[in-house]
Parts: sequence; C-alpha cells; structure tokens
Amino acid sequence: MISKTNQISNGVKPLIVANWKCNPATMAEAKELFDKIVEGVAALEKGEPLHDGTGREVVICPPFVYLATLGASAFAKSFGGLRIGSQDCFWQEKGAYTGEVSPKMLKDLGCQYVILGHSERRRNFGETDEMINKKIKAALSARLTPILCLSSAERGATAKEEMAIQLRGAMVGIEKSDIQNIVFTYEPVWAISTTEACVVATPENTAEGKIFIREVISELFGKDTAESARIIYGGSVDSKNISGFIKDAKMDGALVGAASLKPEEFVNAVKNATA
Ligand code: PEP
Repeated sequence: MISKTNQISNGVKPLIVANWKCNPATMAEAKELFDKIVEGVAALEKGEPLHDGTGREVVICPPFVYLATLGASAFAKSFGGLRIGSQDCFWQEKGAYTGEVSPKMLKDLGCQYVILGHSERRRNFGETDEMINKKIKAALSARLTPILCLSSAERGATAKEEMAIQLRGAMVGIEKSDIQNIVFTYEPVWAISTTEACVVATPENTAEGKIFIREVISELFGKDTAESARIIYGGSVDSKNISGFIKDAKMDGALVGAASLKPEEFVNAVKNATA
C-alpha cells in the first residue's frame, strides 16, 4: 500500500532521462537512434506539449563522443522539446587530467544535465561518495543539473543504510538552495535490467525508496526543501511499467537504460509517463 503522503514533488513535470550507457557502437547508429527519438517525441509534442507546464521533460544522455553532433543536431532542428545530458563529468574545469571531460566543456556543447554516481561507475570505476560530491559541486558551478544516482545493491534495511551513506556523502557542503537544481534518482541495482537475476521493482518498492530519500534530504536540509526535491526512479523502466512508477508511486520521472536504445519503446515510455 503506497502512503497517501507520497506526492509528486511540488510543481514539477515528469522527467524522462535516456541513459544510453556505452551504446551504440558507431556515430551513424547514434544519429539514427537520436533522430528517431526526436521525431517520435516531436510527434507526441503536437498532441501534448512538452515543457509547457503540462508535458514532460526529456533528456538524452549519449556517450561523450556523440554529444557535440547530437546536441548540434537538436538545435539545428530548432526542437526545444528535448535536452542533452552527459553520463559523467570530471570535477576540474581544465588542466592536466588525461581522459577527463569537464562540466564547462559539456555546458559549452549544450548539455543541461549530467548523470553522476551511477552504480556502474561506482562499481566498475571505483567512484567514491567523495568523488561524486566534487563532481556535483563542479556541475552545479557550471550550471549543469546533476542527476544523482543512489544505488542500493541490497534490499530492506541494509539498502536504506547504503543509500543514506551515499546521499549524505554526496551532499557534503551543498547549499540548501542547490537542492532544487539536483535530480535524485532511486536506482536499486537489483532492478537494473542488465543485472544478473534482475527483479523488476513494483511501484510500492519505488515509492518506499523515494520516501526514504526524501526523509534523508529532510534531515539534512529541512522538510520544505525535501518536499520540493525531484526524485526519479531507474531500473528496468519501459513503456508498460512507467505509468505505475509515475502515477502510483508518484516518482517525478524515470531514468531509462536498455529501453532507451529502442526508439519506439522509448517514445512510448515518454508518452505513457503521465502523472
Ligand atoms: C540504469 O542502469 O540506471 C537503468 C535504469 O538501466 P535499465 O533501464 O536497463 O534497467
């Protein structure tokens, strides 16, 4: 049973984020996928406008190497319904940091969002809460909106403890006024489609995660700030289950991995993301 006190955050419209991860393998495929999504979302926009207070906000996060071309192509089409985001960033603006990409560089390419602290980066690249905290601060300074992933590997009380540590670590030195510029993502590792023995979360599971994240934000920054924080859900979201997460669990949106690589499926997910 989902708590009656769990509500969509004040005044926000559903945010749907496509995390393409390390896909697709070529620029030509990326362009084709992107164009199909742009066309599909634009067609939806005719019936139900995006970004007008009633619609949804859609962000595509391709690999770094495709950002410049795809970002430019979105602008070339003069299509304001879609935003571009990155899957990571570094915490310095520039300098001797081989292989890194700074928030300022991303902003310059037209990015508005950056995913930070994804469970795959924590697990495969050893990202710590301290590193993620530095990245959040750098992203905010560059006026990028961090999409912070809070990723429990376990379930139940252990999961809550794990997420509380991640959230507290990520928020060190963050101003209360910055909370409205951060998107918090409940991303249980056990529900990610590529996780072995993945279990698809129920709306009740996701609502519980959201309520818990809100409690920790409330402890750190106060109840009012927590109530307006945007909290989305990520883990095996598709066109069929998305409305349960948004309508029933009152998530403020979704982070979509595998399904965002199938243009028709992703566009239908956007379509069905109604509150
Ligand atoms: C993710 O890894 O955050 C994710 C949401 O992936 P998927 O949708 O494939 O479970």
